[in-house]
Amino acid sequence: MSLKALIFDVDGTLAETEELHRAAFNQAFSEAGIDWFWTEDDYEKLLKVTGGKERILAHAKAIGAENIDPTPLHLRKTALYNDLLRAGALPLRPGVEGLIRHARTAGLKLAIATTTSRENIHTLLDVSFGPDARSWFSAICTGEDVTLKKPDPEVYQIALERLGLPASACMAFEDTRNGILAARGAGLDVVVTPSRYSAAEDFSGALAVIPTLESHHLKSEQSLAPLAFLLA
Ligand SMILES: [Mg+2]
Repeated sequence: MSLKALIFDVDGTLAETEELHRAAFNQAFSEAGIDWFWTEDDYEKLLKVTGGKERILAHAKAIGAENIDPTPLHLRKTALYNDLLRAGALPLRPGVEGLIRHARTAGLKLAIATTTSRENIHTLLDVSFGPDARSWFSAICTGEDVTLKKPDPEVYQIALERLGLPASACMAFEDTRNGILAARGAGLDVVVTPSRYSAAEDFSGALAVIPTLESHHLKSEQSLAPLAFLLA
């Protein structure tokens, strides 16, 4: 079946958001008077746990601090993260904007399949593309829409359902092992652009692994011919 839709992960794929997430977590801990500070090394390990609240719980469990309530911490962290995003410090990754604009011109549908929150993705789309951008996406499926986060395929299954398309008509874009497993679990081909925190992961199962979504990388892979066609 020919390509009819592109489905994007957000964190690490559209933008290198993880350093902003880490800064927001650390600020939320500090404001709450909790003596935690997640270094880059800590965060690389914690990123194996998908979902911010789940990440706080995993850390609490690991250090025997299970009395900590993750809910208010995670709410505050999300507010701080959105403030940082709105401050405009975070560009999209190279090639993302071009691919999305070319896909729209070619009449492809677009969707988001992420474990991050709806508020976070709306802010990122607003600051990156302007307020109309939310309407460019036929489906924005987030952590709030699922009972099981990636690597479970649920978020991709919901995206396909909302797009009204079979997996064979869509392509997913991810930056992590968990993302590959989720996309493949829903039957999707997945293109991986490794990110700052995922560079050392196992990307087997991906259709292609390329440094960025810039057109010269997309055109360099035979398996990505349907995407190169968009950019022609
Ligand atoms: Mg990601």
